[in-house]
Amino acid sequence: MLALVALFWMRDLLVAASQIQPVPYSEFLTHLKAGRMDSVAIGSQFIQGTLKSPAADGRSRIVTTRVAPDLAHELAQYDVRFEGVVENTLLRDLLSWVVPALLLLAVWHLMARRMAAQGGMGGLGGLLSVGKSRARLHSETDVQVSFDDVAGVDEAKAELQESVDFLKDPKAYGRLGAHMPKGILLVGPPGTGKTLLARAMAGEAGVPFFTITGSEFVEMFVGVGAARVRDLFVQARASAPCIIFIDELDALGRARGVGALSGGHDEKEQTLNQLLAEMDGFDASVGVVILAATNRPEILDPALLRAGRFDRQVLVDRPDRKGRADVLRVHLKKVRPAADMDADAVAALTPGFAGADLANLVNEAALLATRRGADAVAMVDFTAAVERIVAGLERRQRVLGAKERHTVAVHEMGHALVAMTLPGCDPVHKISIIPRGIGALGYTLQRPSEDHYLASRGELRNRMAVLLGGRAAESLVIGEVSTGAADDLVKATDIAHDMVARHGMALEVGQVVYERPQARFLDVPDGMVSQRALSEDTAHRIDAAVRTLVEEAFQRAFAVLKDRRSQLEEGAAQLLAQETLTEAELRPYADAAKDGPVPD
Ligand code: ADP
Ligand code: MG
Ligand code: ZN
Repeated sequence: MLALVALFWMRDLLVAASQIQPVPYSEFLTHLKAGRMDSVAIGSQFIQGTLKSPAADGRSRIVTTRVAPDLAHELAQYDVRFEGVVENTLLRDLLSWVVPALLLLAVWHLMARRMAAQGGMGGLGGLLSVGKSRARLHSETDVQVSFDDVAGVDEAKAELQESVDFLKDPKAYGRLGAHMPKGILLVGPPGTGKTLLARAMAGEAGVPFFTITGSEFVEMFVGVGAARVRDLFVQARASAPCIIFIDELDALGRARGVGALSGGHDEKEQTLNQLLAEMDGFDASVGVVILAATNRPEILDPALLRAGRFDRQVLVDRPDRKGRADVLRVHLKKVRPAADMDADAVAALTPGFAGADLANLVNEAALLATRRGADAVAMVDFTAAVERIVAGLERRQRVLGAKERHTVAVHEMGHALVAMTLPGCDPVHKISIIPRGIGALGYTLQRPSEDHYLASRGELRNRMAVLLGGRAAESLVIGEVSTGAADDLVKATDIAHDMVARHGMALEVGQVVYERPQARFLDVPDGMVSQRALSEDTAHRIDAAVRTLVEEAFQRAFAVLKDRRSQLEEGAAQLLAQETLTEAELRPYADAAKDGPVPD
């Protein structure tokens, strides 16, 4: 382009100037005065003229450079030879073109270099291979982490063990025609060791480990992310058996169709679609396992979670007291602990800490000990470090005080005891006072013994009683109710309302449906389902019936717990100490609970 511009610019000059040798202006004037000029053409710098008859040297055309008319007039009087000089601006003009262009190129090159550097490639190669995956390859020897380095997440490790065995010997697993799940999604709060666990899995299986972060797929050029996904899978397939690990999947796998106004949306969608296509398209039996991690599973696109994709979810939760002690022991290996160091005691001080917080705690304690000039990290350093970190954590998440933790323990144990006593309730799988998610300070997990689609009136009553068991326990043991039951009350009220208004289960209002389920999309359009108009009297009776049901459920829960007060308090104390109680640990309480009277 530069050459072309220069060429065009110089063409006139060349034609005008170099074909005919310019004559001095004074000579031109002489010709002019002598009347020998036939015609002249005046340009801004040159004057071309045609002579009436050829001059002595045989030329009939002359060219001269212009001289300012005033000056020419002046000079002509003194019979001097004078001529105009065309300054050669070629160089200057060229520079004014070339320098900016060069600068531009330099900047471009620099950017390309920087982009390439991020991807670990050099020079212009990086620019040209923009679509190449930046997934970093950790070869076998790279992954030194093993499951022993990840503590306090035994359930997750057990679930991943199967895939590890598969990766060690993919062929043996195909023996009976079964195939491994392709995708495993690690779900859990930040800092619980998801990334670590994925690396440990590669270390355990001794296979290559490709890792890429969700946000790395999202690029400034549309289509690059998709190309990157394609490339990642090509690379992985070539080195199977191996693990592909997509960290922070939520950056990429956000549900499509939301936030359409934000930029880069199309790009993300394309990348996600490509990922889905690749996951469908490959055969798991070659020995490629795709792991992904997220702390926000609720915003993931449902298409990612369906069967054949990330259909297996592994929960990586904050560790309980015993788990915390194990994590601490792992990290204590890196420092020099004093003789009085007791991991269990530190674990007791740190409810709500995730693995990363504990790693940080050990480091912080070691720093304090160093500053103290001690030669080992002692218990005092840990207590000081805990105080320091808790202050920071309190701002980020809930860290409960001792009194609140007791209340939560009583509350959860109340749920569990009622569930274990009343007939037909789902067995309690686990109770915990480790805060989880927003709002929940503890939780009681019930595992449905079988899928059921029908619920009898009695079962619904029992379910409500279980929901109110938390509050009943609080009022029994502590003598006062708290806000901790807000969510339980919502659920219980919903059940009661449905029983009355939809299922005809309250005698006071009869077997009449007062409310229909909301029409769903693809169903009847919303406007066409009419809410039955209620008379004020009926509305009152419905409200009263709902209230009676909930109240009655509370009384039943209270009665159950009153008869089992000792189990309730013992269980709460054990829960407080251990933070989680499993099904097995709850069994003695369940057996004892079954013996007592069951209210109607
Ligand atoms: P996540 O990916 O879940 O946010 P990471 O795996 O990045 O958390 O954890 C950060 C660091 O915290 C790890 O490198 C490790 O040192 C420490 N850590 C977290 N969880 C554990 C655990 N369960 N056992 C041992 N160390 C842990
Ligand atoms: Mg992580
Ligand atoms: Zn509750």
